[in-house]
Amino acid sequence: MPAQTHLFRCLQDNYGVLVHDPSTGATASIDAPEAAPVEAALKATGWRLTDILVTHHHGDHTGGIVELKQHHHCRVTAPLAEAARIPAVDVEVKQGDEVKVGALKARVLETPGHTAGHIAYWLPDEELAFVGDTLFSIGCGRVIEGTPEMMWQSLLKLRELPDATRVYCGHEYTAANIRFAKTIEPDNRNLAAREQDVARLLAQGKPTIPSLLGAEKKENVFLRADVPAVAAAVGLSGHSPAEVFAEVRARKNKF
Ligand SMILES: [Zn+2]
Repeated sequence: MPAQTHLFRCLQDNYGVLVHDPSTGATASIDAPEAAPVEAALKATGWRLTDILVTHHHGDHTGGIVELKQHHHCRVTAPLAEAARIPAVDVEVKQGDEVKVGALKARVLETPGHTAGHIAYWLPDEELAFVGDTLFSIGCGRVIEGTPEMMWQSLLKLRELPDATRVYCGHEYTAANIRFAKTIEPDNRNLAAREQDVARLLAQGKPTIPSLLGAEKKENVFLRADVPAVAAAVGLSGHSPAEVFAEVRARKNKF
């Protein structure tokens, strides 16, 4: 039976998401920004929390862990490299490890840059990826603890996943990200079409998450630093993709 997901808002602009295995009843919360919205989502779905899968140590992804674990006695899985900065961790994971939620299998991808130990969870059989604050819909996370080169390599790792992968990220930033992406790629027709789709979803009060990785590859400028037209747009023709990525990211920081 395919995995079921349930997306909901947390804090100011964070997303929480539950992933549920109907065959065993197991349910994971991807990160835990705060306890109350996760509890409300569990109540709404009738699912029982068995796991929390943590992407990185930031407080807006970990603030609810302790309270949820006390209530549900769930297992907390977190990146090995950041486990000391995350509360109540039971299982520490690294690149290539497999994490099971009931019968669902997730593979751990190390995606450093936003934080030094950030990880993503990829469920190949379910065509799902939970990418925290590394890749956003038409955007990417700020490079806080790593280098632009490191972040670019992490984004390349995610870009290698199949086009049909549904990508869940930690925040609703899509509309602002599109406004920025258009400054670099004003003639990207796929991006223009996405802008209309996103405007329609937001007008209906709907989330723009998940996004399809195949669309991100065509529309997300941060995944396109090795496209010659993107390099040219930021005046860096002939430079390395990592240098182009660094310039695009620097421009977004000031946007
Ligand atoms: Zn973060």
